[in-house]
Amino acid sequence: MEKGATIKHDIKKASKTGTWRNVRPEIEVSGCIGCATCVKYCPDACISLRKRKKDEFIEGGKATENVAEIGYEFCKGCGVCAEVCPVKTISMKKE
Ligand code: SF4
Ligand code: SF4
Repeated sequence: MEKGATIKHDIKKASKTGTWRNVRPEIEVSGCIGCATCVKYCPDACISLRKRKKDEFIEGGKATENVAEIGYEFCKGCGVCAEVCPVKTISMKKE
């Protein structure tokens, strides 16, 4: 019997999403609490956390330091991120 193998994921070699995506997730950054739930569940591993920019802080608000960011080159528009976001700050929009 042949042995199995685990191939390390390399985002640079991943196929980019074609023109077939018809909806895209958009994050309302002011509502993001940086929990990384969407990062863990995205089947294409195309969401990451980044530092919140200065102009994304709301005066008097309790904005978290990190926010989610989507890599649209690889996003296929499946909507999983919008489903799992606990504060519903991701919505799916038509391309
Ligand atoms: S729509 Fe799907 S592929 Fe795109 S960022 Fe959300 S979970 Fe990932
Ligand atoms: S799941 Fe929602 S709140 Fe959590 S990091 Fe993603 S966009 Fe932000």
